[in-house]
Amino acid sequence: MTVSVFDLFSIGIGPSSSHTVGPMRAAKRFATALAESGRLTEVTRVRAELFGSLGATGHGHGSYNAVLLGLEGEDPESVDTTAGPRRAAEAMAEGKLLLAGQHRIPFDRDADLILHRRRSLPFHPNGMTFTAWTGDTELTSRTYYSIGGGFVLDDDGSGAPSIVSDPTPVPYPFRTGVELLDRCTETGLPIAGVMLANEVARRPEAEVRAGLLRIWSVMAECVRNGCATTGVLPGGLKVRRRAAELHQKLLIESAPPAADSTPLPLDPLAAMDWITLWALAVNEENASGGRVVTAPTNGAAGIIPAVLHYAVRFVPGTNDDSIIDFLLVAAALGSIYQQTASISGAEVGCQGEVGTACSMAAGALAELLGGTPEQVENAAEIGMEHHLGLTCDPVGGLVQIPCIERNAVASVKAITAARLALRGDGQHTVSLDKVIKTMMQTGADMKIKYKETARGGLAVNIVEC
Ligand code: SF4
Repeated sequence: MTVSVFDLFSIGIGPSSSHTVGPMRAAKRFATALAESGRLTEVTRVRAELFGSLGATGHGHGSYNAVLLGLEGEDPESVDTTAGPRRAAEAMAEGKLLLAGQHRIPFDRDADLILHRRRSLPFHPNGMTFTAWTGDTELTSRTYYSIGGGFVLDDDGSGAPSIVSDPTPVPYPFRTGVELLDRCTETGLPIAGVMLANEVARRPEAEVRAGLLRIWSVMAECVRNGCATTGVLPGGLKVRRRAAELHQKLLIESAPPAADSTPLPLDPLAAMDWITLWALAVNEENASGGRVVTAPTNGAAGIIPAVLHYAVRFVPGTNDDSIIDFLLVAAALGSIYQQTASISGAEVGCQGEVGTACSMAAGALAELLGGTPEQVENAAEIGMEHHLGLTCDPVGGLVQIPCIERNAVASVKAITAARLALRGDGQHTVSLDKVIKTMMQTGADMKIKYKETARGGLAVNIVEC
């Protein structure tokens, strides 16, 4: 069993996969379960409680709106990113919500949507409990955990729910880097080939390819939107959007070569500026609540699109097949992090978000550039090794500072990691599995204040005005 590429890359909304996408999915799951139980019309009140990191930074991460819209039956993939916030504001103002899109009940934001800033649930820092009543009688209560990347676990009562992989048997299961390399050696397939064979066990190949190109088209649209939008990001920090202005400057200074030609730009480092632009564009869209692909999280959503844009624009011969393979390799690597460690900033700090995305992008680019599976594994290891210890300390609890620039820098780092690995023969001292284990241990040792609580680091040294 492996995690599917479509679990790692899902279409959602900003600004946070764990604090926006996950809570919306959990709230929708709770409302849908009520509807399926046949007791929806008995409900007179619903209360949502957000704990731990969700409680500490949920306000800046859009968790209020996400929960409310999820309770109304909205889904992160299809919710209208413009009308959604308006609808949430309207529901809060009138004090009513349409549960599961069918049953209108009173809703008091202060009493029914509670952010516990200092209370956590024992299993995971991103816990949520939803309770429904009929009059004074409790009908049902469910706890969910948003474990990063938009993944949501139901509390099954065991106290330690785990990801239930798709039970469909796949031909080449892997959980670790070593197992992935073994599957490549046994089959002679590249990593993209192993991952594709596993995906095809779940759905027809044409569907897999079309789905991945759709993911790419949403990434590209996100970049286009980010490059065309000016102004100030929401949330009160008054962070200016920079991608549109940078885009105009780069168009004048050094247009990137088309995929089918190879003219060098005038400035030999111009590619770095384009990579920076693409990452800024995605993360500014994310910060403003726009449509993004979680890759593997929203806070780190700019890195894979930026490196893939680099491949499309600067690596001759990159075509739709290369794009599909790139996403398959990135997902194969991301699935190892998801299954053996964590991609949640609230659990392991930013090393698990930006570090993981850098690692995925580095490995994917290495294979696109002709690397062997061993070189790909090396590139992915380098991508994480130099993010070890990276804390999560978003200023004001907003996914803006340091998140937006951090994606740009990590994108360049991913390309460096890929190129460094390709200069070697794949033999190296620290394996991908060892660096992932180190990341997890480092995250466990990290003080809570550095794990998406906005109570440490930059978050306390920048004065909000
Ligand atoms: S600092 Fe990193 S992990 Fe934290 S919110 Fe920003 S991108 Fe996500």
